[in-house]
Order: sequence, then structure tokens, then C-alpha cells
Amino acid sequence: MANLQDKICIIGGGPAGISAAMYLQKKGYENYTIYEKLNKVGGKSYSPRIAVNGDERSYETGAIMGAVTYHAVHEVEEFGGVTHADGPNMRRMYRDSSGKEIFPFEPKKDFSIGKLIGLLKLKSQMKKLVKIMETKYKGYDCYGHRGVAQGKYSGLSKQLDNALELIEGENPNLKDLALPFDEFCKLNGVEEVMRIWLGPYTSFGYGYFDEIPAGYVMKYLDTTTAIEFINMRLWTWKEGTQSIYVAANKKLLHPAVLNTEVVKVERPAEGTEGKIKVTVRTEDVEHTEEFDKLIVTTPLDYFANYADAREEEKELFSKIIHEKYVDFIATFDKDQGPTISGYIFDNMVPERLGHAMVYYHRWEDLEANCPSVVYALRNHQGSEDAPYDYTIDTMMKDMKACGFPVKERLYEQETYYCPHVSPKDYADGWYDKLEAMQGKQNTYYGGEIISFGDMEDTCAASKDLVMRFF
Ligand SMILES: Cc1cc2nc3c(=O)[nH]c(=O)nc-3n(C[C@H](O)[C@H](O)[C@H](O)COP(=O)(O)OP(=O)(O)OC[C@H]3O[C@@H](n4cnc5c(N)ncnc54)[C@H](O)[C@@H]3O)c2cc1C
Repeated sequence: MANLQDKICIIGGGPAGISAAMYLQKKGYENYTIYEKLNKVGGKSYSPRIAVNGDERSYETGAIMGAVTYHAVHEVEEFGGVTHADGPNMRRMYRDSSGKEIFPFEPKKDFSIGKLIGLLKLKSQMKKLVKIMETKYKGYDCYGHRGVAQGKYSGLSKQLDNALELIEGENPNLKDLALPFDEFCKLNGVEEVMRIWLGPYTSFGYGYFDEIPAGYVMKYLDTTTAIEFINMRLWTWKEGTQSIYVAANKKLLHPAVLNTEVVKVERPAEGTEGKIKVTVRTEDVEHTEEFDKLIVTTPLDYFANYADAREEEKELFSKIIHEKYVDFIATFDKDQGPTISGYIFDNMVPERLGHAMVYYHRWEDLEANCPSVVYALRNHQGSEDAPYDYTIDTMMKDMKACGFPVKERLYEQETYYCPHVSPKDYADGWYDKLEAMQGKQNTYYGGEIISFGDMEDTCAASKDLVMRFF
């Protein structure tokens, strides 16, 4: 039952936490607090400014882009008064593993009959996929995964005509979404489309198609979003994706409390009344506040590190897997950098773990003098992780092979990326177990695991939580 006087604690000031506060505030809640352990909001939307020859601009170390299907992010940008209308254009080219430019989707360039036939097949399978997703898999494109393992759908709609309305229904075929994406494609005779999905999926750090349930792939890259990616009709933000959350945070009645890490959560025993005690640490000083409700937007597999997690929470959250995505901003000697972003498809397979898969050139007018971000994955289920140092070294060599020897690395990082569960746990109803736990001990789970590890799905997950439980 909604009680607008409830005192609510939101853990984490990333897209999920900031949007949760925004949706609560829009609903009339005025008594919420966001704790953020870092000195900034935005989480993995982090857009530092870098000066090149005295010209300072935003660059991206985390989230970069959105699309027309970014309904929840759009609500956050409108709330903050930010627009995606003047962001830099996305542009790309393709290279093979030796760094040579290739033209996989242009039949006239490097013409061969095999390539032409492959492209025709791809086109017809793409059409087929769009059709079956609308018919056989009707209901696949709402946010979140609750019910899917039972052949049901229930969540906010992502479709353009009824975006962000709660929809639900039954469709037994949806159980197929638990299959690894490569098996799902084989089952439906659309294997060729993986060539398209690979770029915005695997190279963006979301994992390989033999390990990731199709539910994640198709909910993030629903056919509308995928087509926007193909046609490069993408949203970017002039001051970076972080500016969305910085601006929204400023409009909140209670902006996030920065440099404040939640270090302990003590909840009244299940079924009993009482306050939730949240202990935070700011500059080595700890203090405890009492709340009525808790919204957790930080990684659930780390929840037990600071909270009094129940056995069922520990057990369920221990199944979460996350990707190890490495990136750095590369600088180059004068006129020696790329002039356009590049995809290296050959490196988007588990056998090439630790290799650069994509690099992002942000500012077209800076030509070969634009610092560029280079990305690689170093884990795959069933393979040994590529060691971190090896990964950095390999990414450097790959850039050199492309003709862009890196001068310096800025903001080098490995992120906790794209939490998800295995095809088996997905089929076993992991999401329905999580749904059954929502609200127990006045605790609500949000963030990336709920739907997908991107800005839109995390903000939509916050909307879904606030609409249904507050
Ligand atoms: C390299 C990269 C590229 C990406 N590209 C895109 C893209 O192009 N488009 C897109 O939509 N998405 C992209 N993403 C994904 C997107 O950034 C994330 O999915 C999104 O930021 C997740 O939001 P969140 O709030 O759930 O988690 P996070 O962004 O991880 O935020 C969680 C916050 O919680 C804080 N926190 C953690 N523990 C505590 C604690 N104990 N107490 C207090 N605070 C705590 C953290 O400091 C952090 O600020 C990208 C991410 C990366 C790293």
C-alpha cells in the first residue's frame, strides 16, 4: 500500500538509483535518500572531460549511446532538461584481425559470389526474425524477465506505440528465450542474424552467444532497436551520458549524498515490524539512519557483503554471473589516431578473448587527433579468463596493427558489467524467484540484473518498481 510518508533509502547513484528517486518524486514521495559511494553520480555513465590542444570536450569511459526505444532514459533527460539532439554522430568501419579494412556488408566492395549469397541470406533471415518476434514470440519485448520461464510476459512495454505501459499475457513459446542465443537462432533458422547482433552485443561487452540466454539479447536488441543500430540512428549526448544523471540529480528534492558508502544494512526479521537500519561511511566516519524501505541498485551478488542477507537471498544472488569488460581512452601522437570508430569482428569470438573488439572515435572534426576508447572482454563461461595485463597488452597490439599506436592510456578500467544468469538458471525460473522476494523485509531490488545492463533497462526497471510497489 502506497504511503507517501515512507522514508526510503536508495543504495547507488547510477542511472538506476537516480531514476528511482525521480520516479518516486514524481509519484509524490518526498522522503528518500540516495547514498552514492563515489564523488559523482552516473555510475557507469561516466564522461570525463579531456583537452586536446586546448579544446576540452566530453569523452565516454562507460555508456555512450541510446536509441529511439530509450523511453525511460528520455524521461530522465526531460526531467533534468538535457537533450540528445546535439550529440556527436556515430560512424563506423570494419577491420579484420590483422587490422586491414574490410567491407562485410557491402556486396560491391571486395565482390564475391559467396559474400553476395551470404548477404541475401542475412536479409531474408532478418525479415524472418522480425516476423517471428512479433508473432511466435509476442510479448518478448517488455522490460524484465519475470514469467518468461513459465511462458508468460509481464512488464513495461518497450514498443513505440504503448511504451512504458504495464502489459502482461501468456505465450508458451517465450520459454525458448532461456536458450543460449546461438541455439535460439538455430531453432528458428535465423543463424545469419548473429552477424548483425554481434556488433552491438558482444563487442559492447555483453558476452558471447553460446553462453547468454536469448532473453537478454532480444530484450536489449529488440528488432526496432537493432534496426536503429544497423542504420546508425543512435542517440549520444554532447556532454556525455553522465550529464543526463547529473542534471536529473540536480532537480531532485534530495540530490544523492556523495562519498557515502553503505556498509551495513540491518532489517527487522521477516514478518516483524520495525525500521531498517542503514549504516553509511563518509570519510571514515560511520553513522546509522533508519528507513522504512530499501531500494538496492548495486550488484546483488555483493549485497551480502554489507547487508544481513537471508539464506534465500545469498543462494539466489550467488547464481549471478557478470562480464569483465576492459576499456581505456587511448591518446595518439599528432595525426596518428583513427578518424572513425572501428569494429574488429574476428575478435568477437571466445577464442580471441582479451583482443580489442571495437574502438570508439567520438569527435569527427578532431579527425586523427581524437582520443579513442578501446574495448575488450576477458571472460567467457567455460574458458579461462584472459589475464588483465595480457588483455591490456593485446589491446595495445591490436590498435597498432590497425595503424594506431597508442601513446598513452587514460581512465583504464575493468568494469563489473552486465550481470545475468545462465541459460539453466534462467529456465529454472531465477527471475520468478527474485520476483517472489520483492518487498520481503521492505527490500526492493533494481538495477542491471532486473532486465539488462544498459541505461534504458536499468531506468525502466526503476519505473517498474516504483509503479508496482510504491
Ligand atoms: C564501457 C561501457 C559501455 C557502455 N555502453 C553503454 C551504452 O552505450 N548504452 C547504454 O545504455 N549503456 C551502456 N553501458 C551500461 C550502463 O552504463 C549501465 O548499464 C548503467 O550504468 C547501469 O546503471 P546502474 O545504476 O544499474 O549501475 P551503475 O551504473 O553500476 O551504478 C551503481 C552505483 O552504485 C554505487 N555503489 C556501489 N556500491 C555502493 C555502496 N555500497 N554504497 C553506495 N553506493 C554504491 C556505485 O558507485 C555506482 O555509482 C555501458 C557501460 C560500460 C562500462
